[in-house]
Amino acid sequence: MASYKAPLTDVKFLLNEVFDYPSHYQSLSNGGEATPDMVDAILGECARFCENTLFPLYQSGDEEGCKLVDGGVKTPAGYKEAYEEYVAGGWQGLSSLEEYGGQNLPASLGLMKQEMMGTANWPFSMYPGLSMGAMNTLQLHGHEDQRQTYLTPMTEGRWTGTMCLTEPQCGTDLGQVRTKAVPQEDGSYRVTGTKIFISSGDHDMAENIVHIVLARTPEAPKGTKGISLFIVPKYLPDEQGNPGDANGVSVGALEEKMGIKASATCTMNFDDARGYMVGEENKGLECMFTFMNTARIGTAIQGVGPAELSYQNALAYAKERRSMRALSGKKEPDQVADSLMYHADVRRMLLTQKAVAEGGRAMLYDAAQFADHMVCAYIEEDEKQADQYDDKLGFLTPILKGFLTEMGYEATNLGMQVFGGHGYIKEHGMEQIVRDTRIATLYEGTTGIQALDLLGRKTLLMTQGGAVRDFTLRMSNFARKHLGDKAVRHYCWRLLRLAAQWNWLTLRLMVMARKDRDMVSSAANDFLMYSGYVYMAFMWARMAVAAQQGLRQGGAQSEDFYRAKLATAEFYFERMLPRAQGHAESMLSPSETLMKLDNDHFAFDY
Ligand SMILES: Cc1cc2nc3c(=O)[nH]c(=O)nc-3n(C[C@H](O)[C@H](O)[C@H](O)COP(=O)(O)OP(=O)(O)OC[C@H]3O[C@@H](n4cnc5c(N)ncnc54)[C@H](O)[C@@H]3O)c2cc1C
Repeated sequence: MASYKAPLTDVKFLLNEVFDYPSHYQSLSNGGEATPDMVDAILGECARFCENTLFPLYQSGDEEGCKLVDGGVKTPAGYKEAYEEYVAGGWQGLSSLEEYGGQNLPASLGLMKQEMMGTANWPFSMYPGLSMGAMNTLQLHGHEDQRQTYLTPMTEGRWTGTMCLTEPQCGTDLGQVRTKAVPQEDGSYRVTGTKIFISSGDHDMAENIVHIVLARTPEAPKGTKGISLFIVPKYLPDEQGNPGDANGVSVGALEEKMGIKASATCTMNFDDARGYMVGEENKGLECMFTFMNTARIGTAIQGVGPAELSYQNALAYAKERRSMRALSGKKEPDQVADSLMYHADVRRMLLTQKAVAEGGRAMLYDAAQFADHMVCAYIEEDEKQADQYDDKLGFLTPILKGFLTEMGYEATNLGMQVFGGHGYIKEHGMEQIVRDTRIATLYEGTTGIQALDLLGRKTLLMTQGGAVRDFTLRMSNFARKHLGDKAVRHYCWRLLRLAAQWNWLTLRLMVMARKDRDMVSSAANDFLMYSGYVYMAFMWARMAVAAQQGLRQGGAQSEDFYRAKLATAEFYFERMLPRAQGHAESMLSPSETLMKLDNDHFAFDY
């Protein structure tokens, strides 16, 4: 049976000693209330809810799963009560606008909350998580009356939301969407079509479900330019704004799947359902991108959280389990054998997990500051500034989503490996973490699609390498500032070399892509992974600097904590970062190495 303890010490270290969140919050127009005491209280309360309510339901939720009963989804025992507690705690509106019932705190606090809740029980956290994406879309693109009707009950958590994009013939290529929306005289639409794989498509925890649906109006152009976005509620709100008549929305099926069994994945049938357009006609995909960016950063958390959960449990096991003697001689002579902790290969696995969980958390907290600035600029209606922060965050989003979910999956696999055969059987809960994490590299855009977005759109097309120059400048400035410090100088030199290399690789790819049309697709995955390893190195260098300062000046954490940070930073730079060079070499290989084999020769039965 697995266990979970919220990593509050690491969170506080990042907040106060690495990223100086107290000053950051004071610089935001909506950050005044986020004083250190208030932040401590919120995170402490969140940790209690996660440890006492959410985590105890993690394994039982997997065993029971969701069930389709009389046309509706029944969530596992305890979920409804846990959701009531979540709503009563005001968690859904933590970072939402006050005018719609929220608490108006910075977006980053919402992300920290999401990380803890997602670690304690990812399938549960998907219900409020998808709702958050729908809320952000309505906030940015909905009319005021739509916001009043839908956003308020969603912010309070009484209603939840979904994102209905995928259809049987398309998940990535949304230009193929067929769902129809026919305009009515009263300004509403009639929506008809089938959406598949819809997370939280139905459940028994909220009074109403607000589906955000991609569909085409009758005269819409073909492809992505003819897609619009609609609100389609499960129950049509009555005049008082309460759930009224049932709409033409039904659950066609509940998927049986590898993991996240307590998260309902539904086929949703829309049959002449009443819908309301959000934003402009044929601009649905653009509106949905807001949704997708939030959801993608939300999914990046699924790389970090399970790595943390798996690490915590693998560590406890490695300390207890005994096997053979350490190569350097008996370490625990009174025992029948030494613990797994004395074997270098086991330590490699544990340190990899620790480096991913803590390095990934630092990446999220770093990016979250851009999200805070972006939201503030939107609130202040400073479009130029909002766009600038949106661009910065937009560049980081595919790295966070693609790299962290791939690394998170690796980390959970290693957690299972530490348990040996015992990791593969159900009892210890390690195989569930692996199964639950596997989906993270698939939904919200597969790793391949994140990689194309990063290299093709954000790096080459939109900024001609400018986004990389921007990011590496931040990295180089940091490195130069700390070059004088002997203890971290070697990390700073590495960062400077990587900054130069990342720009050089971008330039090379730009030149190669001009002649070779398949180059972007063939280099994208390596480029994404390279970018992720470098970003994480930047974060480990920042943590090493903060840990050194903590040791020298007697910081708020224990000496053991700082020493562990420094040892993990060293492990990361010596044993994980070298992987970036493999990706650097591989990305420059001409696309021919992938494309020259004729489709007919690509066979197994010659
Ligand atoms: C449990 C679960 C929950 C989900 N929740 C939701 C939800 O709430 N709402 C929703 O709308 N959808 C949801 N989805 C759907 C999910 O987002 C899609 O499955 C995913 O985006 C991939 O689409 P696809 O399955 O159609 O794969 P495809 O698009 O068919 O892709 C297949 C493979 O081809 C690759 N590929 C495709 N096109 C290209 C290209 N141009 N270049 C290079 N490689 C390419 C992909 O990377 C992938 O490896 C969910 C799916 C699951 C399994």
